[in-house]
Amino acid sequence: MTRIRLLATGGTIASRSGSDGRTASVPAAELLVSVGPLPPGVSVEAVDVASTLSFAMRSPDLQALGAQVAAALDDGCDGVVVTHGTDSMEETAFYLDRCHRDERPVVLTGAQRPYDDPAPDGPLNLAAALSAAAAPTARGCGVLVCFDGVAWPARGVQKVDTLASAAFGAPGRGPVLHVSGGSVRRLAVPERPASPALDPGLPLPRVDVVVMYQGADAALLHAAVAAGAAGLVVAAFGAGNCPPAVTDAVGGLVASGVPVLICSRVGSGPVEALYGGGGGAQLRQAGALFGGDLSPWQARLLLSAALAVGGPPAETLHEWLT
Ligand code: ASP
Repeated sequence: MTRIRLLATGGTIASRSGSDGRTASVPAAELLVSVGPLPPGVSVEAVDVASTLSFAMRSPDLQALGAQVAAALDDGCDGVVVTHGTDSMEETAFYLDRCHRDERPVVLTGAQRPYDDPAPDGPLNLAAALSAAAAPTARGCGVLVCFDGVAWPARGVQKVDTLASAAFGAPGRGPVLHVSGGSVRRLAVPERPASPALDPGLPLPRVDVVVMYQGADAALLHAAVAAGAAGLVVAAFGAGNCPPAVTDAVGGLVASGVPVLICSRVGSGPVEALYGGGGGAQLRQAGALFGGDLSPWQARLLLSAALAVGGPPAETLHEWLT
């Protein structure tokens, strides 16, 4: 028997509509019933971890979920499925992937339409995620986001549509599995980190994301540090450029011990130290770090994890990003 543990955290997949809007209230066992018969030879243990909407999740929730995934694997499960809100699923997937070095699949899924919708997408997504988690072809892929018939790698996955069923993409990377009617076909081999697993017991220091726009100055960077941020991610223009006033401030922040990680607000492609005039070349001279093609949201967790493990963040990030 292939044993899968289903960890339910809430989200639209578990939501019903009410006068105050949608709220997540459907328990794991009921979600499981909604998928119909399980594939032959598969058993599923349904566990309620939380009933939250993912835009309300915080770092301790991630840590608690990381511990639950580790416990499921320690208990001998062959795979884990996590139901989760779509809004921040890419952050949770990335964090769980940092904590996961096992061959066994960990698959996140959710829905764009609620449980009580006349045509919900949750049951099909959950059925596909269970098939993927039980499939030998999904082993060694790390943490995946399974949605609308495909599974995306944790690193690089992004919510790319607010409401459509095909909610996710991984720009520049593409899907890893095709999942349809119980068949799971491997499309690509995702890169797996060589670095050791992150311990979910480690508290994640506050790291804030500051987004650039025409005329942006350094006020929000300083405000973030004043609010307790131990590191900053800048969602910069284009391939990693900031207005000169921001670049000037970055030098001072780095000198005072606050690491600044540059990503792009574009949504696809890597950042590079190319331009003067406040651009990437000067950000690098100012001591900023560069986040490759990570989204600012996943980079925030990477920098926070680097600060959590201690040591020079530049060295940790260099190791983790290559
Ligand atoms: N729209 C969200 C969802 O799809 C709400 C959330 O992220 O919890 O689940």
